[in-house]
Amino acid sequence: MARIAVGGFQHETNTFAPQRATWADFERADAWPGFIRGSELIDAVEGFNIPIAGAVKTLQELGHELVPLCWCSAPPSSYVERDAYEKVAGAILGDLAAGGPLDGIYLDLHGAMVAEHHEDGEGELLRRIRALVGDQIPIVTSLDYHTNLTPEMVRYASAMIGYRTYPHIDMAATGSRAARLLDRLLKDQRPLHKAYRQIDFLIPLVWQCTMAEPAKGIFALIDEIEQGSQSGARGGSPGGSHNQGIVSITHTPGFPPADIAQCGPALVVYGLDRDAAEAAADRIAAAIREREGGFAGKLYTPDEAVIEAMRIAERATKPVLLADVQDNPGAGGTSDTVGLLRALIAHRAKGAVIGMIVDPEAAEAATAAGEGALLDCGIGAKIGYAGETPVEAQWRVVRLGDGRFTGTGPMYGGAKFQIGPMALLTDEASGVSAVLAAKRIQAVDQEMFRHVGVEPAEVPILGLKSTVHFRAHFQPIAETILCVNSPGAHVSDPTELPYRHLRSGIRLRPMGPTRE
Ligand SMILES: [Zn+2]
Repeated sequence: MARIAVGGFQHETNTFAPQRATWADFERADAWPGFIRGSELIDAVEGFNIPIAGAVKTLQELGHELVPLCWCSAPPSSYVERDAYEKVAGAILGDLAAGGPLDGIYLDLHGAMVAEHHEDGEGELLRRIRALVGDQIPIVTSLDYHTNLTPEMVRYASAMIGYRTYPHIDMAATGSRAARLLDRLLKDQRPLHKAYRQIDFLIPLVWQCTMAEPAKGIFALIDEIEQGSQSGARGGSPGGSHNQGIVSITHTPGFPPADIAQCGPALVVYGLDRDAAEAAADRIAAAIREREGGFAGKLYTPDEAVIEAMRIAERATKPVLLADVQDNPGAGGTSDTVGLLRALIAHRAKGAVIGMIVDPEAAEAATAAGEGALLDCGIGAKIGYAGETPVEAQWRVVRLGDGRFTGTGPMYGGAKFQIGPMALLTDEASGVSAVLAAKRIQAVDQEMFRHVGVEPAEVPILGLKSTVHFRAHFQPIAETILCVNSPGAHVSDPTELPYRHLRSGIRLRPMGPTRE
């Protein structure tokens, strides 16, 4: 039995987004718990599909003693404010210092955090922890798929394990894998060789989905190399005998809207055998580079998308999904832009529903007005991104909700949402409806709609503020999916972003122009 400290600090920073992450954003609960510290952490994370929940469960099953630190996350947004970063980092460092003798540390990190005063949020945190605990204690972290994996992170962590799915359905499972690797490091007492590679082109999120090529094939290759190692030469997988000595592989396709030097896809292969790890890293990097042209697809303008959706919906029995990929609050979007909503109304897409339009004022006004009333204000566009204005229409309050419900999808199943007042509004002239929410939350779980009386499978056209995550719960009920390029702070094409700190030599999108 070992004494293992467990904690987490999650943020995905879109440095181009309009809102910063404050201490209050880390304190509050939404789909996940709020800031939790000390002994309450263990019970508070139980049952959530988040890495620390999987890690805690596995470490307990392996018989280890846990020393809880703190865990928190804030919705994706622009820079983490200095005050918030220092409060959380200070709590982690302070509790590590006070926690008594430790054998190991597990941290649940996102891997794309940019603080106002440190462009590599996780690298800086790991550097401070390493300075405190020394070189001998293993530090293992889990990472999001959208990690910008930096050389500092690789240097200071003993090992890091990233998700392999986007939509992320393996979050708790990844925490569990990280826990087993930490257990192995404690037993083996042998440091791992780290073979690190960066890929020289940014990949927009919308083309990173693992339900489709080329990401699907890349992760299949990674699984094959890792499993070939574990089964050795007898495994029968191609190159199996060369893969022996490889312990774990992490490939993170990156989070492009981050104006930092080390933004972009990367990978790290951990191995007991240096040559095997380096060869595997080369092979995976080559496979990604060979598929560069495959990271592409069609984006529709809002008008094109609505016209095409109405044409398909006439004969379809299942909903046509319109993914509002740039206004994804899970990537720093405000979830209140109205380009797609205006197009649905303009084309009179009767029966169409779009969600979530995040507008706390309108959600509260609808609650005050009551079901059946007409709302006397416009909705959305309160942040004012892209110079938009709220949508005025004959908004009838059809159904209200208090924002408390439990998720049922592959990502948020079991998550206890607390997202404040919600409302279903219908514009009486066009028959288009919008689901209002008070807190920024990505449209990834069907319960968000059922909570206000909408059965997603019965809607002809469903607009979703999400880039890829919605696919886990919504693709199975969809006739087809159209990706829409409407205004939003998660700008899909990195060539449109005003980078200042990104390293030179990297292509701004697959097959795109090179940064000078
Ligand atoms: Zn992610």
